[in-house]
Amino acid sequence: MRVAIAGIGVAGSYLASRLKREHDVVGFERMRADRHDSICAWGTCRTKMAELCALSGVDFAKYVTHDGRRMRVEVDGQEGFHIGLGGLCTYDKIGLIRDLVDGCEVRYGKAPALADLEAEFDVIVDCTGFHRSYLPRIRDDFYLPTYEHRVEYDSGAPYDDFYIRPFRGMSGYFWYFPLGKNAAHIGAGDYNRAHVDETRRFMEEHGGRITKTVGRPIRLATPGRCMPYSRGKVVGVGESIGTVFPLLGEGIIPSMVCADIFARNVGDVAAYEREVREHFAIYERVFRFVHAKLMGRFSMLRQGFDMLAIYRYMKRNEARFGMDIEMRNLARVARA
Ligand SMILES: Cc1cc2nc3c(=O)[nH]c(=O)nc-3n(C[C@H](O)[C@H](O)[C@H](O)COP(=O)(O)OP(=O)(O)OC[C@H]3O[C@@H](n4cnc5c(N)ncnc54)[C@H](O)[C@@H]3O)c2cc1C
Repeated sequence: MRVAIAGIGVAGSYLASRLKREHDVVGFERMRADRHDSICAWGTCRTKMAELCALSGVDFAKYVTHDGRRMRVEVDGQEGFHIGLGGLCTYDKIGLIRDLVDGCEVRYGKAPALADLEAEFDVIVDCTGFHRSYLPRIRDDFYLPTYEHRVEYDSGAPYDDFYIRPFRGMSGYFWYFPLGKNAAHIGAGDYNRAHVDETRRFMEEHGGRITKTVGRPIRLATPGRCMPYSRGKVVGVGESIGTVFPLLGEGIIPSMVCADIFARNVGDVAAYEREVREHFAIYERVFRFVHAKLMGRFSMLRQGFDMLAIYRYMKRNEARFGMDIEMRNLARVARA
């Protein structure tokens, strides 16, 4: 098949790598090649990434920039605590994206018109992330604004491992993700829009040389809320159809898993949609839990079962999340 992949982010690049051997794949990326980047903190889980990348013949270990040991969590009005890490890492996300599309034709600096894509291709995959440029608008979309710096230190980075600070009411969190010894992604996402001030405050306190500043909304509306997944020749994959784990704002692995589902069901949209709905069903409960907190409607009685289901899911998938999952830590964050 002739397949157009619109958007060369994590979902688009991974999908291209999985399809390029058997199909005629052309990628379209609206950023220019020399400016191509990925707005993200670049944190993920080593084991699951290694498994997914192996399916494309790529060794994920080559891209890892920091292996986490323990993550410091500070919650307003409570004592801080640590979460043991077993796989959580940062990696060179844009380097991997570039390598995954190696050997594929990619037309950079292009956001082509739908009619042009329809004339040339059998399938058009919308991997445009938050933009969802080729699918209908989502009626009840839900997203948080984010703001992030890449920071370098000549000496003495303020932290040597992952650090996060969830905001009151679980409205978002501040993050410090190390990228090796002397660099980090520092930023925040917040429904109540304190993300820019929180990031600036941290920079004022700790210093560092800002080499890049970015920001974009992150979609928390789950796949169950991002219908339709397809229209005509267009099929959505990745954050364009809501593959972000709402509790953590984690979208890298879920978007690659979504691309994997597409690759295994290529040519059968109904089977793809069914598998996406099944795989991401738990995200709906997670969203309900986060949304209730955000709207100030959280009660242990109403959301207690959701919290238990989320805990069980994360505990079962502890290795996939790359961190120790403990109920008391989930409760500490929920109490914030
Ligand atoms: C600040 C921030 C930090 C984050 N940190 C993490 C993290 O540490 N770990 C994690 O797991 N997740 C994180 N996420 C979420 C994660 O980055 C995304 O969910 C994930 O990258 C989604 O992948 P995607 O390929 O679907 O979309 P994207 O990565 O957004 O890629 C979409 C691509 O499409 C291109 N594009 C857009 N419109 C068009 C068009 N019309 N034509 C052609 N190209 C187009 C864009 O330029 C982009 O390259 C973060 C998100 C943000 C905003």
